[in-house]
Amino acid sequence: MHILVTNDDGINAPGLLALAQEMRNLGKVTVLAPDHNWSASGHVKTMHRPLRVKEIPLADGSLALTTDGAPSDCVALAMMGLLPDKVDIVLSGINPNANIGYDVTYSGTVTAAMEAIICGVPGIAVSVDAPEYHSGYLDNGPSARVACRIAAITMHNQLPKGTLLNVNVPFLTDVQIKGYKITRQGLSVYNDSLVKREDPRGRPYYWIGGDAPTAILEEGTEFSALSEGYVSITPLQLDLTDYPAMKTLSSWVWD
Ligand code: MN
Repeated sequence: MHILVTNDDGINAPGLLALAQEMRNLGKVTVLAPDHNWSASGHVKTMHRPLRVKEIPLADGSLALTTDGAPSDCVALAMMGLLPDKVDIVLSGINPNANIGYDVTYSGTVTAAMEAIICGVPGIAVSVDAPEYHSGYLDNGPSARVACRIAAITMHNQLPKGTLLNVNVPFLTDVQIKGYKITRQGLSVYNDSLVKREDPRGRPYYWIGGDAPTAILEEGTEFSALSEGYVSITPLQLDLTDYPAMKTLSSWVWD
């Protein structure tokens, strides 16, 4: 099995290395990740400039590929012929904060897994629910082991076509993690605020600040599973159609 590992935090992120090392237990791993942090960059297709790819060593000495493209570009590059060997599954992460609720549309981690689905292979996004401003060492071991297990189970059972998995792991040790829950996407509350300042030449600039988003605690959601100490596995799809709204809109008079 050939596994592509990517992320949105950049090629030097510790979560990427932990994920790549663990996935080597399942098969051949190729790492292709952005050369800088693309967190909250959403689903990107770089079309108006060339993409460069170069080989660099990771912290454990293994060789990886890095590009100036976005996380989704990494997946597209790999699938469209950059890699000589066919990729069987894409793992994206490990993102150092949860990707829950509306985060999934902003998340480079999740949109890399979306790109895998577009390219016709299973995609799994992995994030750990570390505190928003956690500093210092973050043990990615438990999340990496969870990711490896989920990838193995996914390959064994065959993920439905068009489905990607958004995995969020509680910030706990292996023994503290209670198990796995299949969840639905929850709701987010954003606490952003716009900060207006002046540059040294007196011109205004704007900075989106504020507090970290919060989630609404509802039974069956990712946030609920994480708060109870479970790994959250949310199947997502790219079909964003609001089917009940189609019915409502069909009842309106349009002409
Ligand atoms: Mn990130």
